[in-house]
Amino acid sequence: MLFETQAVHVGRAPDPVSGAVAPPLVLSTTFARDGDYAPPASGDIYGRTGNPNRRDLESLLAALEGGVAALCFSSGQAVTQSVLQALNPGDHVLFPRDVYHGTRNLLTQQFERWGLSASFVDMDDSLIVEQAFRPNTRLLWLETPSNPSLKISDISALASLSHAHGVLCIVDNTWATPVWQRPLALGADLVVHSSTKYFGGHSDVTSGAIVAAHSSPFLDRLRAIQNLGGAVPSPFDCWLLLRSTPSLAVRVRAQTKSAGQIAHYLHTHPNVAVVHYPGLESHPGYAVAKRQMSGFGAMLSFEVTGGESHAARVARAVALFIRATSLGGYESLIEHRALVEGPQSATPRALLRCSIGLEHVDDLIEDLAHALV
Ligand SMILES: *Cc1c(COP(=O)(O)O)cnc(C)c1O
Repeated sequence: MLFETQAVHVGRAPDPVSGAVAPPLVLSTTFARDGDYAPPASGDIYGRTGNPNRRDLESLLAALEGGVAALCFSSGQAVTQSVLQALNPGDHVLFPRDVYHGTRNLLTQQFERWGLSASFVDMDDSLIVEQAFRPNTRLLWLETPSNPSLKISDISALASLSHAHGVLCIVDNTWATPVWQRPLALGADLVVHSSTKYFGGHSDVTSGAIVAAHSSPFLDRLRAIQNLGGAVPSPFDCWLLLRSTPSLAVRVRAQTKSAGQIAHYLHTHPNVAVVHYPGLESHPGYAVAKRQMSGFGAMLSFEVTGGESHAARVARAVALFIRATSLGGYESLIEHRALVEGPQSATPRALLRCSIGLEHVDDLIEDLAHALV
């Protein structure tokens, strides 16, 4: 089955009991055993450990990323936290310098106290990455395109480099989605998602997932953390994701088409200093993005010519773009990222980040045209 067909059919057979085509929502936290105390054929015992809706979602996400297994969590951050918990005190992790600020904060505010250490390096320069490995490095974390400046790192080159050092390579694929980028096929060991974003697609469910390319003791430990720690999505969260994922490819394709048009519009605008979008030939990561992505995604950011006050003016003046954080929903969002990230943010003060939604692109361009004075 090809991607779109998998998205519709994996984990989604009609219910054998009722014939229901849409999956029944199973809220039960416990499952009856027979007289000999054997669990039911589904294997379900208790809600934290497993649930039919979660199992269906996990099989779907594993298929879409081309992995052997997926584990779903209650948020993207719960995934990242579990990955870091699966490491040992004294271990070292390599992160991109411009990694998602929540990932950075988990490390610096939580896991340094556990004895984990990290280096934040420029992942677009493999020489710098090579020099950053230490004897105790266990994990190379990639995020491409990155947030919020859409830097591109070369997944296959960096995965080979990490394997040469005996280090696991993990990719945050939230922004690209498997519609455009398949990190496991490029050599990564693990893929993480904030499924709050494009998988959810409707800004109404907080959730996360990790997909593994192969079985490993690390995957076993993650599974144990999922069960023991219990940061699992509710059955309804899983049900919502089972409902939205079949339309992932059509949504992301339409959103990406508009994002490309908007990026080109902004690129020639006199009040815009620079547009960060990997589909622009002027973008420093264009060649690598073209090689490793089949589309450039629906996220972009741009810096206005007049600094922070100008960016604030533009964000205030838009009428269709909603001023809010997050991404991947059907509504377009705009955000002054430095304000959201806080005073220690390294994000340029003139930068605005946009998540392009499913509105007509002409209306979105007109909205930006009115605001960009
Ligand atoms: C949103 C996001 C996360 C965190 O996910 P939550 O679901 O908000 O916990 C991690 N990585 C990236 C790239 C994100 O955009």
